[in-house]
Amino acid sequence: MKNDLFPLVSKHVKLKTHIGDSLFIGRCPFHDDKNPSLVVNKKYQLYICFGCGASGDVVTFSDMINKKKERKDGRIRKKNKD
Ligand SMILES: [Zn+2]
Repeated sequence: MKNDLFPLVSKHVKLKTHIGDSLFIGRCPFHDDKNPSLVVNKKYQLYICFGCGASGDVVTFSDMINKKKERKDGRIRKKNKD
């Protein structure tokens, strides 16, 4: 099984090269990020956000993205019901 963090994060965040070719930085999808504070380490398949403290690996990231999506869907459903 190929657990690739980088392509997954790239789907949600526009990543820019930060340092060298293994560290990338982008705007965190987990909080209202005005300045890019999400750092992704392509080599070690880890991410950390210096804004909200979110961190982990590909499993944590997809988990957090799914939860965020669920919350969003929940809000939309609630809105339509009112
Ligand atoms: Zn964040």
